[in-house]
Amino acid sequence: MVTIREAREALKLYFGYEQFRPMQEQIISDVLQRKDVVVLMPTGGGKSVCFQVPAVVMPGISIVVSPLIALMKDQVEALIVNGIPAAYINSSQNAEQQYEIENECLAGRLKLLYVSPEKLLSSGFISFLKRLNVSLFAIDEAHCISAWGHDFRPEYTQLKALKQQFPSVPVIALTATADKLTQKDIQEQLYLKNPSVFTASFDRPNINLMVKPGKDRFNKITEFLERRHKQPGIIYCLSRKATESLANKLKSSGYSATYYHAGMSANQRAKSQDDFLKDNVQIVCATIAFGMGIDKSNVRWVIHYNLPKNIEGYYQEIGRAGRDGAKSDALLFYSFADVMNMRNMLQENQSREEQTELQLVKLERMQQFAEAAACRRRILLQYFGETMRKDCGNCDICRNPPTRFDGTLLAQKALSAIARTNERVNLSLLVDVLRGARTSQVMQAGYDRVKTYGAGRDVSTLDWNRYLHQLLNEGFVEMAYDQGYTLKLTEHSRQVLFEGRKVQLVKFEETKQEEPTVKARPKKELIKDALFETLRTLRKSLADENGVPPYVIFT
Ligand code: ADP
Ligand code: MG
Repeated sequence: MVTIREAREALKLYFGYEQFRPMQEQIISDVLQRKDVVVLMPTGGGKSVCFQVPAVVMPGISIVVSPLIALMKDQVEALIVNGIPAAYINSSQNAEQQYEIENECLAGRLKLLYVSPEKLLSSGFISFLKRLNVSLFAIDEAHCISAWGHDFRPEYTQLKALKQQFPSVPVIALTATADKLTQKDIQEQLYLKNPSVFTASFDRPNINLMVKPGKDRFNKITEFLERRHKQPGIIYCLSRKATESLANKLKSSGYSATYYHAGMSANQRAKSQDDFLKDNVQIVCATIAFGMGIDKSNVRWVIHYNLPKNIEGYYQEIGRAGRDGAKSDALLFYSFADVMNMRNMLQENQSREEQTELQLVKLERMQQFAEAAACRRRILLQYFGETMRKDCGNCDICRNPPTRFDGTLLAQKALSAIARTNERVNLSLLVDVLRGARTSQVMQAGYDRVKTYGAGRDVSTLDWNRYLHQLLNEGFVEMAYDQGYTLKLTEHSRQVLFEGRKVQLVKFEETKQEEPTVKARPKKELIKDALFETLRTLRKSLADENGVPPYVIFT
């Protein structure tokens, strides 16, 4: 068996690094022992080395699955520069080129072969791989396998074939998404055998988090840029059109800007990316298509022109700033109109009901992050299951803290209601229980008989919603996405319930509500919901009857 010492020597010899980063060594040591491994490490953490070094020192060839052609190309070029024989094979090559690479593999001349998931599962490729001495499968950007994640690629779900076809070849799955559910999904879908899971800290203390109201964004952006001279940065926009118009507007104001989205040709995209990487242009206005795997260390700021769909996506996008460790800024614009837009989009796009629900819940967490009045870094890390000991002192909230009050009693009511309903209620049901609402769900479950039923009827539905999100944000409650979004108690909640721990909540202007059963939904929203429901039904029945693809009606 290959030893970790040989791996360390390879790191020095081929990559020029003196030592492994924390965790890399353990990961590699497990891979060398042919264990399955899952690596959750933020962008820039150094995941590539975790499979590239084993690939070099193990006998045979390692197969790397990677979702983007550009990404493969960059990595393979870098490996070759370092003297490591590597190649990629994907749809951008003609049959002859692919054949040539296959021959290189068969001749045993390559240590790493990068493939797209489509290629890997195309006919004949598995039997081709069986003719090689495959030492390791590395699944990069493994979160693409999960429909729960923010970058789902259906081709990835077919990767389960790997363990079936190659039961004795170890698999290493790597991602920068720490979400627990995604992690579980990765393990299950790849059929990993009792894998070692490595989770690095997701804290990026050099990135300052800021949220500003979405009004007058363009002026706010130019104001922001004035203090940043020529520092490179990314502005994420929701639509392709917006990236183009914003880039043009910036250019007419004298800035050096370009745009990037998936609707451009491969050449155009490569040019935008290249211009940005080489500092020929300062700003790239982009959709979320931009950035996966891009290794530019001096991005000094990231702006979200619109609210991202969820915290995973947001975290990954801001993570492209400050990879060199120097101070960087993340500015998020927030407006309620954005939330509405996004909700409508989600409801329109999704075919599976439960998917829509999940995404709406995640969007709500994102919205609550934007609206929150607690240390933003704490909320972000809490979302990924990390608890900070003290506030960061750097985000906009820490710099300008809101007024708080002793919310221990409110928290105790909520937490004990969760306990008394056996952690089986989701957020809206909990609010119904707290407010003593007589909905059918409450009555059927017999929650009107639990002790805390109606204990919070003096607080409106809307306000309970906000308090509960504060509790979620600060880790006093957890939400189980895979168990009907039910709320669960945490270590912290137990301290509040049983050890007299105090909870400081943020003050906001409370809303009034008389009848416990009345939902505090704005009328406009209700009408909109009803309208969409009608349209959806209409569309579906038309599609069923006439075989018309559903989207035709809307175009
Ligand atoms: P990730 O895939 O996790 O986003 P990369 O693998 O692209 O991160 O690595 C990020 C950067 O860290 C790269 O520039 C890489 O060369 C560097 N790096 C990785 N491991 C080490 C190490 N042990 N010592 C020094 N630099 C490292
Ligand atoms: Mg990577």
